[in-house]
Amino acid sequence: TRTEAELLASVPDGLFIGGRWVRASADRTLDVFDPATGLLLKRVADATPDDGVSALDAAVAASAEWAATAPRVRGELLRSAFDLLQQRRDEVALLITLEMGKPLPEAAGEVAYGGEFLRWFAEEAVRVSGRYGTNPDGTGQMVVSRKPVGPCYLITPWNFPLAMATRKIAPALAAGCTVVVKPAELTPLTTLFLAGLLEEVGLPSGVLNIITTTDAAGVSERIIADPRLRKLSFTGSTRVGRILMKQAADTVLRTSMELGGNAPFVVFDDADLDKAVDGAMLAKFRNAGQACTAANRFLVHSSVAAEFARCLAVRVSELRPGRGTEPGVGIGPLITDGAVDAVDELVQDAVSHGAAIVTGGRRVAGPGSFYEPTVLTGVPAGSRILQHEIFGPVATIVEFDTETEAVRLANDTEYGLVAYVHTEGLARGQRMIAALETGMMGLNVGAVSDAAAPFGGVKQSGLGREGGLEGIHEYLSTKYTLVQTG
Ligand code: ADP
Repeated sequence: TRTEAELLASVPDGLFIGGRWVRASADRTLDVFDPATGLLLKRVADATPDDGVSALDAAVAASAEWAATAPRVRGELLRSAFDLLQQRRDEVALLITLEMGKPLPEAAGEVAYGGEFLRWFAEEAVRVSGRYGTNPDGTGQMVVSRKPVGPCYLITPWNFPLAMATRKIAPALAAGCTVVVKPAELTPLTTLFLAGLLEEVGLPSGVLNIITTTDAAGVSERIIADPRLRKLSFTGSTRVGRILMKQAADTVLRTSMELGGNAPFVVFDDADLDKAVDGAMLAKFRNAGQACTAANRFLVHSSVAAEFARCLAVRVSELRPGRGTEPGVGIGPLITDGAVDAVDELVQDAVSHGAAIVTGGRRVAGPGSFYEPTVLTGVPAGSRILQHEIFGPVATIVEFDTETEAVRLANDTEYGLVAYVHTEGLARGQRMIAALETGMMGLNVGAVSDAAAPFGGVKQSGLGREGGLEGIHEYLSTKYTLVQTG
């Protein structure tokens, strides 16, 4: 439609370096496609490693002045960006839907969630503090202060094109750090649009730099090897996170890693089943299951498993797949055809080992990268689908008999990002909070993310926290001074 074309035309297509929109130094473009149609949406600049270094040059040049800018001024700029985002929220939501595929109401939800990081860290910018005290032997004063770490490199994934960007950019800027952002090559448009908003509210040149590239590995390696870089924050797969941590070791670079998950969703026999099914729909089918927080394994008490599977399958079969711009669409496409293949392979593997399909279980024919929302029961222990992040709309149901068994199964993974538990028993809920190896937990809910909460994992789900009081500390270093007094 005309509005889509106009919106796409209004998105900047250059690299944003030192406050200017510039072309990539090599004559290459990065094509952005609509996963619901397979059609080209827009071509943007495709940065080379040299362009990446230019962006870092700009971030380094702006670093001292931004660090010395009054926290209130930094906060007010973020707050203005929040306000402007509210004015432009329909456009941003449509852009997210076009390049990433999620249904428009979900995209509007992402704009609300993603915007909150701008508001939250606008408020946190003026609350950074240290401490002060007398040393134990009484001869001096100990002063502990916080300083911005310096230039940061922020790598974001495609599944939440706005929220993953604001969740890193806002705390970094609030802390007084300048940044180079590399959005995922599959969904760079939302980040470019966001950069336009931050430019419009008057962010000083060089504080925020954006590079879009098809050469994520080459560009990132050059930037990470540069000793002027002081911080790397990455959200993406555990596989790539491991590569980046190895590269970061060479310069002892500080890292924050938001990596994969394999979330258990535990339903006890004393759960409110309606609530559990509501929670399951959110935890599993929001974003078509393409979230590191997506429920990956439904562990359900054997006495309620059949009923839970039946109710869930009814709700799931009502989800109409389609282009996210169409009204009534309940589930969008997966991000690429390759993603559909990967999900289908996991489903076929589970079925060949004895799992039963209650609903779904097939790719959807026609243009676009669609997979039917699926429920599998009787998934045998050890199946690949229980060990891998599915990243698709497939619920796997495994039965258990005792609480001890539920805890053992829930913790039986190298990941530890989030766990969901449904029980009406207070004591049981408390025991689960203590027993589950996880960075986050939802008790009788299907979504936990909030700008005011510390998001992050344990085990191989990552390092560090984003959001909450903790989020800004990822971008601050601690300085201690002893002042002799006696
Ligand atoms: P996903 O599986 O969700 O696509 P990835 O970890 O592959 O997750 O991608 C997340 C982000 O990491 C994207 O911005 C992508 O471009 C980037 N990326 C992928 N491979 C590398 C790499 N070798 N070095 C740096 N960044 C990478």
